[in-house]
Amino acid sequence: MSLIHFFFDDEEVLPLLLWAQLVKSRGGWTCDTCGHYDDPLRQTYPVGIVAHHRDGNGNRHSGNHTLANGQVLCTRCHAAAHKQLRAEATV
Ligand SMILES: [Zn+2]
Ligand SMILES: [Zn+2]
Repeated sequence: MSLIHFFFDDEEVLPLLLWAQLVKSRGGWTCDTCGHYDDPLRQTYPVGIVAHHRDGNGNRHSGNHTLANGQVLCTRCHAAAHKQLRAEATV
């Protein structure tokens, strides 16, 4: 059991900034799709990592900032993931 889960439930709705930090920390600062690693202290650009909402809704007030809905992606895979979500939404 990770330390994060000692403090936070998977389904608990968290403030957006805290959620993003926890998701990235839990994911080992590594993109879930391609394995790109970004040192949290250096944040290498142009390819960095972001905390992505699996349901595709990144709205601050959407109330979906739960660890279960969080996934670490690099900025490249993140753009692809949202393109994919948009494609699915228009079907
Ligand atoms: Zn990636
Ligand atoms: Zn996203």
